[in-house]
Amino acid sequence: MKDKLIRATTMDGTVRAAACVATELVETARKQHNTAATATAALGRALIANIFLALNLKGEDVVTLRILGDGPLGGIITQADANCTVRGYVQEPNVQLDVNPQGKLDVGGAVGKNGFIYVTKDLGLKEPYTGCSELVTGEIGDDVAYYLNQSEQTPAVVGVGVLIDRDHSCLAAGGFFIQALPGAEIELLEHLERNIQDVTSVSKLIQEGITPEEMLVKVFGDIPYKILDEEVWSFSCNCNRPKLEGVLLSLGQAELEDMIEKDGQAELRCHFCNEKYNFSKEELQALLDRGK
Ligand code: ZN
Repeated sequence: MKDKLIRATTMDGTVRAAACVATELVETARKQHNTAATATAALGRALIANIFLALNLKGEDVVTLRILGDGPLGGIITQADANCTVRGYVQEPNVQLDVNPQGKLDVGGAVGKNGFIYVTKDLGLKEPYTGCSELVTGEIGDDVAYYLNQSEQTPAVVGVGVLIDRDHSCLAAGGFFIQALPGAEIELLEHLERNIQDVTSVSKLIQEGITPEEMLVKVFGDIPYKILDEEVWSFSCNCNRPKLEGVLLSLGQAELEDMIEKDGQAELRCHFCNEKYNFSKEELQALLDRGK
């Protein structure tokens, strides 16, 4: 099943939903960052959750998700934009924990149960808006749902899953998202919750070949809904050489001179995609001259 995301809404417009397969996207992230299994699962879930937080962006809008727990993974930072691209990283990509008693990768243990989730929306206004809530389980889906409930007062269900193969590649990844907008009837929400009660492992369903359309059928059951559109999201970064030059310039003249004298070159990596940028002595010198 190729990566695909479907957006939908109930006929009365009070509940919106999305479902996606994102196996290729998570596999691209894994390859870029060379993450171990538990780290891949955590990063993959965060990337998919970030997509769900970024479904209605326009123009230059960007949504950044930061999950900062007290587990061995350190932080997870991801970012999604209106061009259907998402990128991100974990601070400790080598984290590999034993599976939990449910036989799943121990994402909660890797992220940690104590900490905070921050969502920053840069919607082209003067100031970006950042909301925050405490982590609940560190399993990411629950934490993002709790955030939406607490910080944005929109009850939500966020089901995200990543299945890792024996060779550590991503076997299946994806999820579903339900968000109640103001005015949603409590009975409707309870009905939706009953519908998804038996969806215990979304990644397993994806491995078995379920499509986003079929996921939405499970979510809505007999509740009337309509599909709004279809998107293809990818793991892709917006970094480029001029941006990294800007980073070098921001270090200041003394630091640059030091770099030229001591190292005779510089190697920078973009955190978000792990792409490497090399600068020769001559290029550093040119930057220095330009900065003067
Ligand atoms: Zn990058």
